[in-house]
Amino acid sequence: MSQSHPFEKIHDLIGVGFGPSNLALAIALEELAETNGHALDALFIDKQSDYRWHGNTLATQSELQISFLKDLVSLRNPTSPYSFVNYLHQKQRLVDFINLGTFYPCRLEYNDYLKWAADHFASQAVYGEEVLRIEPVMDNGQVDHLRLISRDANGHEHSRGARSVVIGSGGTPKIPEVFKALRDDARVFHHSRYLSSLGQLPCAQGKPMRIAIIGSGQSAAEAFIDLNDSYPSVKVEMILRGSALKPADDSPFVNEVFAPDYTDLVFNQPTNERAKLIEEYHNTNYSVVDIDLIERIYGILYRQKVAHQFRHAVLCRRQVEAVVSNAEGIELTLRDLATQQAQTHRYDAVILATGYERRSHQTLLAPLAEHLQAFAVNRDYQCLTNHGFKAAVYLQGFCEASHGLSDTLLSVLPIRAREIGESLYQTLGKTATRPLNNAHTVKAIA
Ligand SMILES: Cc1cc2nc3c(=O)[nH]c(=O)nc-3n(C[C@H](O)[C@H](O)[C@H](O)COP(=O)(O)OP(=O)(O)OC[C@H]3O[C@@H](n4cnc5c(N)ncnc54)[C@H](O)[C@@H]3O)c2cc1C
Repeated sequence: MSQSHPFEKIHDLIGVGFGPSNLALAIALEELAETNGHALDALFIDKQSDYRWHGNTLATQSELQISFLKDLVSLRNPTSPYSFVNYLHQKQRLVDFINLGTFYPCRLEYNDYLKWAADHFASQAVYGEEVLRIEPVMDNGQVDHLRLISRDANGHEHSRGARSVVIGSGGTPKIPEVFKALRDDARVFHHSRYLSSLGQLPCAQGKPMRIAIIGSGQSAAEAFIDLNDSYPSVKVEMILRGSALKPADDSPFVNEVFAPDYTDLVFNQPTNERAKLIEEYHNTNYSVVDIDLIERIYGILYRQKVAHQFRHAVLCRRQVEAVVSNAEGIELTLRDLATQQAQTHRYDAVILATGYERRSHQTLLAPLAEHLQAFAVNRDYQCLTNHGFKAAVYLQGFCEASHGLSDTLLSVLPIRAREIGESLYQTLGKTATRPLNNAHTVKAIA
């Protein structure tokens, strides 16, 4: 528990992470500053050294899995200067993009769009600092405000005060138990480190390698295609527990679960009904692959059969039971779930395309736990708190169980940002200290 530091600046808001969620919030706050006649003093801290959206996974072939019309702003304000269309216009690619005839830009381009938008908020962003924890600052037995402790790349700790925080720190790579002992082995890595880790391996110099990809989702499929296309010296085995690679359901009626209105529908259900709705549409997002990628992988395997040259394989119904690392490589014991027979396969590297967990908010907020109601949130994504808590804590991307499947995705960013922004104005407005003439206006974008 912290005591108040007499000269510490207290921000209205500190956002933890400056990914698409908090970037969308920064834009919504700029709009709300206009409407409310004053701006909140908001700062966003990101541990990356510069703006990047899943930068280590940006293989050339990977595409956005959502329409570009669901950008940072358009669902709320199609006339916003921060739209993807305006980005294209500013970059003089609008006509060319139209000629592509697609709703799904490549992720490299979407990353560039997000960076372009983030650059307009450079004065509100701190890069290269990891927020370690968020502590209560007590006054007269009440939580008066919050203190964020962060660490920069040189190991120096920084402390900042805030009346509210919005946690948008995203997912954390999920490492299956059986691989945990190999955390320090550079030959075994999570897909979130795909480009940098692969760049250190001999295949980056064109040397032959056998690589296993563990997983059956979009990331596993993207890695398969990238290794096939960009690393001719690599043989890949994709290993999955399921009996087949399955397509993501993005058909139009099902896609309505990602509509902003659907958030109300989910939130208004009792807990067990919410869970059923999320389970029913699990195959829109988890352990599924875009159909065009599935068809490409199938085509590659079929052409191998025609040529009698078997470079890659997809091993379905396989459970990884044991992992041994030695000088010769990484040995995986795979149990065939149909026959129950176990076989050992040796690889030169293993890519864990095993998904992400959403728990970093619990670590960051651990010092506040006794004041929070088990991280439960209200409709405005604000954590429910005990009596005597004057600060406010919001979560972006950690509310799937209460707000539905769109919560971890890009689908409702503009609407959620407005909801959180309005709630912040309401909550902080009661004790607002900033003069009205501090309002900043929406900047002209060039
Ligand atoms: C490879 C990949 C592709 C995806 N593609 C799509 C897609 O096409 N469509 C879609 O809808 N969704 C997609 N998603 C889902 C993804 O969650 C969202 O696209 C989006 O990134 C969510 O934004 P966010 O800001 O909540 O989280 P993130 O984008 O994960 O951003 C979190 C930010 O917080 C920072 N951070 C984390 N911890 C700390 C800390 N302690 N201190 C300071 N900074 C911190 C990180 O550096 C990061 O910049 C994809 C996810 C992945 C992994």
